[in-house]
Amino acid sequence: MCPPPDSDAAVTNGTEEMVPIVTDAPALPPSLNERTNGTNGVNGTNGTNGHSAPPSGKHKGAYGRASDFLSNTSNWKIIESTLREGEQFANAFFTLETKIKIARMLDEFGVEYIELTSPAASPESRAHCEAICKLGLKRTKILTHIRCHMDDARLAVETGVDGVDVVIGTSSFLREHSHGKDMTWITKTAIEVIQFVKSKGIEIRFSSEDSFRSELVDLLSIYRTVDKIGVNRVGVADTVGCADPRQVYDLVRTLRGVVSCDIETHFHNDTGCAIANAYAALEAGATHVDTSVLGIGERNGITPLGGLIARMMVADPEYVKSKYNLHMLREIENLVAEAVEIQVPFNNYITGFCAFTHKAGIHAKAILANPSTYEILNPADFGMTRYVSIGHRLTGWNAVKSRVEQLNLQLTDDQIKDATAKIKELADVRTQSMEDVDMILRIYHTGIQSGDLQVGQSAVLDRLLEKHMPSRDSSPARGAKKSRTDTTV
Ligand SMILES: [Zn+2]
Repeated sequence: MCPPPDSDAAVTNGTEEMVPIVTDAPALPPSLNERTNGTNGVNGTNGTNGHSAPPSGKHKGAYGRASDFLSNTSNWKIIESTLREGEQFANAFFTLETKIKIARMLDEFGVEYIELTSPAASPESRAHCEAICKLGLKRTKILTHIRCHMDDARLAVETGVDGVDVVIGTSSFLREHSHGKDMTWITKTAIEVIQFVKSKGIEIRFSSEDSFRSELVDLLSIYRTVDKIGVNRVGVADTVGCADPRQVYDLVRTLRGVVSCDIETHFHNDTGCAIANAYAALEAGATHVDTSVLGIGERNGITPLGGLIARMMVADPEYVKSKYNLHMLREIENLVAEAVEIQVPFNNYITGFCAFTHKAGIHAKAILANPSTYEILNPADFGMTRYVSIGHRLTGWNAVKSRVEQLNLQLTDDQIKDATAKIKELADVRTQSMEDVDMILRIYHTGIQSGDLQVGQSAVLDRLLEKHMPSRDSSPARGAKKSRTDTTV
């Protein structure tokens, strides 16, 4: 179904200073429509197979639409795989101490599951799995991810996990060049492993690997078989990152008509579709999405936790806020970034350095009037702050006025417009730092108050600035560094 992908991803990082300013939080627009969720086979109670299909939350997204009855965008769960998929990230080497920190934070955040590396991978992996199972996490169930093999299954059930995720390659690529087994062997072994794990009273998921390059008839056949013997979830995995949202929607919708158990999905991000694919899967009736913090994983990783949250917040903000402790997102990302020695990308969803920074004058003006004009996510929901950048040539007097008010300076609109003209003039030469902008405004204010300066006296203002900002042009380094001139609103 998909051609083999070939992609590399590079991440650049922003580390510039941010200076905050504060305004009221925006109210998201009222929902455009409401609907009740339909009768797809959501297994809300983990462990019972079949269509429980509880009516889920109302669709409250700002841009909600009349979705079809399959959609689970208001009824889904996260399987957080930073401690399994994420351990396959090129830079990852998690000590037990780090794994415990991550596990505890994800539990506090509220993810429904965490997935750990197979205990069969190494003696340390097994010890870590056992140790994390003993933590007594409050909300989060613990899974481990194993090959479809009885030896692995026996090890897994002894670690104390709440469930086992079994995976096997079903594409011809993997059947021929990886494990070398045919579908008959796969089916027979899957039944044996599933029945064994079920006999231990814990959850079991069966997933194909490389699902989108597998024969549809093979997939549906094995999913139907494992569903009949009572698996909790079947898994669809875009292991090579080749799928697009339409393919995902089609496959999950078809699968939804074949099995009654929950449907877990796993999307790699080689071609940038991991979040969109997860969303399409939920729209088609999937129930669980695999994520990792910052998307770390094999190659360039999978659906990022924060990115999925951002996407789902637009679909149904109240549902997402009711499930997760969103203010922890930044802390979790910082912890994982530090553990794997990377920076949080400048354009990261929600927590990126510029995720809530507004620059153009026309944007700043509208944001100051009503943040929903240019924001679909409210930074306050995540403990984040909105910024309006003001020390640049694109700035506008409304943004400057906001800063004047924060500094508690008494200036008329005409005076603020006059000061803004000077800021723009200077910023045409180089971006002005926040300190520069503040100083210009203070000097302008003092000049007005003392009577030394009148509106429109640009040359007088220049002399005042030269007198009171002697270092303004003296340091060659000042122009080299693009200082942020931001104000929180
Ligand atoms: Zn993966």
